[in-house]
Amino acid sequence: MTKKILILPGDGIGPEIVAEAEKVLQALRADFGLDVETEQALIGGAATDAEGTSLPEQTLALARQADAVLLGAVGGPRWDALERHLRPERGLLAIRAELGLFGNLRPAILYPQLADASALKPEVVAGLDILIVRELTGGIYFGEPRGIDTVDGVRRGYNTLVYSEPEVERIARLAFDIAGKRQGRVTSVDKANVLEVSELWRETVTRLAGDYPGITLEHMYVDNAAMQLVRAPKQFDVVVTGNMFGDILSDCAAMLTGSIGMLPSASLNESSQGLYEPVHGSAPDIAGQGKANPLATILSLAMLLRYSLGEGVLAERVEGAVGKVLDQGLGTPDIRRPGMREVGTTAMGDAVVAALGEAG
Ligand code: NAD
Repeated sequence: MTKKILILPGDGIGPEIVAEAEKVLQALRADFGLDVETEQALIGGAATDAEGTSLPEQTLALARQADAVLLGAVGGPRWDALERHLRPERGLLAIRAELGLFGNLRPAILYPQLADASALKPEVVAGLDILIVRELTGGIYFGEPRGIDTVDGVRRGYNTLVYSEPEVERIARLAFDIAGKRQGRVTSVDKANVLEVSELWRETVTRLAGDYPGITLEHMYVDNAAMQLVRAPKQFDVVVTGNMFGDILSDCAAMLTGSIGMLPSASLNESSQGLYEPVHGSAPDIAGQGKANPLATILSLAMLLRYSLGEGVLAERVEGAVGKVLDQGLGTPDIRRPGMREVGTTAMGDAVVAALGEAG
């Protein structure tokens, strides 16, 4: 059956990088039998300008019907002074919430060609390939009660860290399932020595592990996990954790690679419908100059193929093509190293398309 992909270019460099991912998609359709149809819609500042809202009804309706959504980036200084509900970022938060995207996948892969971009020693990070699975719709960012009030003349702010067993179960199952397709190791990160919510988290994950005999599970306190990520990151395969710990650890893991223009992400719901986007923002400082790195978006497309369309072989083909292009010594300005040839956004996209036929 023909699968549907909704494409949301967004703002800033969004349209430029998404255009390159579309070229790759087009080549997969023409040459590798991928059966998909695409539609485009507005989100973010572009939608606010055209429709007066950062997530138009039409966009949301198309997103609900799609098997997957590929997004560029939203935001920019033009919209920063608007009221909160009109800001581009609201559109992104709203579409994540509306689609029930509870599982955020953030791979941190260090391509050997870029090993010296990391702040860590090459031998510590070379060949790094870890995946952080972060719970995205619960935990302290959403817990009630929350607020700022005054008690006995003293102002205080408070939030609530709460997870139910079903919430922990579904994110843990996602992590176990994915680990089964990787090296088969899951590290569950919590703070069970201090927090009751983490005790429940740990009990639940341990119980579920019984259903996955092929997977090795270990538990780690979040403070130790932060330390281990910069000390010996290659010890990890899949890391599963709650919303706030995952927010912090996934940025930390991402930066082990040193290249923001190379980092894809996926956010999935219970029907494997997903929103795929690069980790970086709309880079207004380089928008319209043809020098943005499209590889994070192209690698997000690879995740889309793997997790929402069940096209793992094509996903590997796309990832292989990115590796080939780096092997050829091509680099946009953000990743270019001595000895590499500098190319712009379009030439980089063309090179990936050309390498698709060779990769495999
Ligand atoms: P940013 O990620 O847009 O840019 C940070 C730096 O990285 C900039 O110097 C930029 O030029 C560079 N960079 C980012 N992506 C690049 C790419 N593909 N190729 C080459 N260089 C790249 O972060 P920021 O400057 O803090 O935010 C800019 C805007 O993006 C803000 O409006 C912010 O709210 C928004 N934002 C959106 C998202 C999203 O859409 N998911 C995420 C983060 C920030």
